Amino acid sequence: MAIPILTAPDPRLKAVSKDVETVDGEIRKLAADMADSMYAAEGIGLAAIQIGVAKRVIVIDLDQKDGKKNPKTFINPKILWASEEMATFEEGCLSVPEIWDDVERPARIRAEYLDLDGKRVELEADGLLATCLQHEMDHLEGVLFIDHLSRLKRSMALKKLNKAKKLAV
Ligand SMILES: [Zn+2]
Repeated sequence: MAIPILTAPDPRLKAVSKDVETVDGEIRKLAADMADSMYAAEGIGLAAIQIGVAKRVIVIDLDQKDGKKNPKTFINPKILWASEEMATFEEGCLSVPEIWDDVERPARIRAEYLDLDGKRVELEADGLLATCLQHEMDHLEGVLFIDHLSRLKRSMALKKLNKAKKLAV
């Protein structure tokens, strides 16, 4: 079931999410709702806090080109290693609509997480997946991509966001 996505400056987006203790039916239902919400909003990634649930669950699907859905769920993800080499991507966020800006992050990471069966998985990622994972893991710490921008750029982004909201009402 698609659930409305919170947008900045909603204070819930600043919450630090809690570890999932048991990967059970409730978590699998949450992951399914997150995927529905992500597809409904035409996004490629979503963290649980973006639908108001402060649990360390992320859903990502970078490969939706042919209309096939293949959401991947990352539970309690942790970065084990990050490259010194950095990469810059123009990022956007379902919780910061209509704002896009360059963010620099480690180009490659190694991460561990639990899958939907509660099994521990290790993964090396680069390119868009590395960026997307780091962007979504920031959400688990209450950090938005605009928090990585300079103060000036961030305040410009928030102003633009406020204006867009007013126009939408
Ligand atoms: Zn985001």
